[in-house]
Amino acid sequence: MIDLHTHTIFSDGALIPAELARRAQVAGLKAMAMTDHGDHSNLDFIIPRLVTVARELNAVMPFIVIPGIELTHVPPPLIADAAKKARDLGARVVVVHGETIVEPVCPGTNQAAIDARVDVLAHPGMISEAEATQAAEMGILLEITGRKGHSLTNGHVARMAQKTGARLVVNSDSHAPGDLMSPEWAQKVVLGAGLTEADFQAMQLAAAQFLPKAGTIGAKHKAAPLKMLIVDDDAVSRMVLCRGLEPHGKCHTASNGREAIEAFRKALATNEKFDLICLDVMMPDVDGRSALTQIRFLEEDRDLEPEQRVKIIMTTTLSERKDIEGAFRDQCDAYVTKPVKIQDLLERVRQLGLIA
Ligand SMILES: [Zn+2]
Ligand SMILES: [Zn+2]
Repeated sequence: MIDLHTHTIFSDGALIPAELARRAQVAGLKAMAMTDHGDHSNLDFIIPRLVTVARELNAVMPFIVIPGIELTHVPPPLIADAAKKARDLGARVVVVHGETIVEPVCPGTNQAAIDARVDVLAHPGMISEAEATQAAEMGILLEITGRKGHSLTNGHVARMAQKTGARLVVNSDSHAPGDLMSPEWAQKVVLGAGLTEADFQAMQLAAAQFLPKAGTIGAKHKAAPLKMLIVDDDAVSRMVLCRGLEPHGKCHTASNGREAIEAFRKALATNEKFDLICLDVMMPDVDGRSALTQIRFLEEDRDLEPEQRVKIIMTTTLSERKDIEGAFRDQCDAYVTKPVKIQDLLERVRQLGLIA
């Protein structure tokens, strides 16, 4: 059971994250998002703390804490901006406190949450069919809640979801130990809303998409801008690679191995090292293989530690690849096949830990 909506002492919950996580684990949960009440005053107070504790707890507990936020009574025109700021701070689940009938939530909050593409619209009250349709199209999860009061409209929310195909999740909205829902209890809440056991399973699957990959909590969405060198004798190839990589930093270019070595040497001397080099194999004059050997030689000469070495991705044709893979395995970090698909390249860059 995964709960995507809970509160800690960082807003109006009774427990610190470590105790909430432990009690949830004992109650039979596998994972939980901690989503304290946030607005523009406290996003930067709450989220970094939850990110830190999630990273620490996840390293040692058989339980997963997902740092999140619940944007609560934020005026609709400010919701999109608050959601963006929350994500930039590291929130992995953005919940909006929807138009529950037991609080004077500003009308238009449900719609603004959907427009802002948040992850979960909590207790959306008398959500309209048009809003549910849009939530379905945009993959925004509607909440069936175990919370007293908010749960009065669970039946309506379930019916709207069934009518429109919107996906649902079941959350506790826990503020205190007694609010935590065991999997058995959560299933009762789901059945009580007129849904089925199969629906409960589907809700768990929907929630599972937020489980972070091991070790990625706390990783910034965007690493500090990278300094990159694109080496290729073909101008079009250089342009394609630059265009794909530029969202992640600044791209410098070189059109042969000699220029590449020169640029690398200069960067090394001024201590403004490159983070990444994309190196073509077949080039006139000094080719990619010679450049690779030279660059590693320069690094060795400087006694650089392995983690200080520049990451090098070779761009090769399929036919070259077999020959060089063996010989250069320990010198370069990865290969991509030409013509380079940007998605493949970015996946390599991600695997090398340069981008999140
Ligand atoms: Zn609360
Ligand atoms: Zn809440």
